[in-house]
Amino acid sequence: MSDGEYTIDDELLARARIHAREVIDESDLEIDLESIEWAVSTRAKRRAGACRWDGDRGVATIVLTRRAYERYDWSAFAVVVRHELVHAWEFQQFGESGHGPRFRERAAELEAPRHCHSFTEPRYVLCCLEADCDWRADRHRASAPVRSPERYRCGVCGGTYAVEHVDSGRTWTTASGYGGAKSALGERW
Ligand SMILES: [Zn+2]
Ligand SMILES: [Zn+2]
Repeated sequence: MSDGEYTIDDELLARARIHAREVIDESDLEIDLESIEWAVSTRAKRRAGACRWDGDRGVATIVLTRRAYERYDWSAFAVVVRHELVHAWEFQQFGESGHGPRFRERAAELEAPRHCHSFTEPRYVLCCLEADCDWRADRHRASAPVRSPERYRCGVCGGTYAVEHVDSGRTWTTASGYGGAKSALGERW
């Protein structure tokens, strides 16, 4: 990269930040933009965005995918930005985030559909918990890595990962967490 060159990543982030500011000004979402960090993923292939939470620092990081920015028109990409903003809001307010009723309600207000950040819609998603790793793997059945995540490791960095039941937004990191989510959801499982 040469000095002063304005890259597509700079453009993506500038537009996303401006959009976030507009959305927050126009809604009653109590979100602290100052403690949100933004990043571009050049590696992600299957999702357009992600939001990570560092509870110790109280910082949500919204990661947007360059490939999606190149592929989507702006209005579609803006939906991704709003979707991840709702995750950031949940993290800031509650220290956790998923795609449950609370998320859906806020996402609807911001016209940010629930599953927009995924190119495909798996039943479960394995998601690395390490801050600098964006490994993510889709699973369509409750295989052993879904049922007992503590016995396995991230496919890229070897860190621990969480499993998300995509439809409910429930997440777990242990076999007992899996059992708890399954029994709590009952028929919705
Ligand atoms: Zn999401
Ligand atoms: Zn990892």
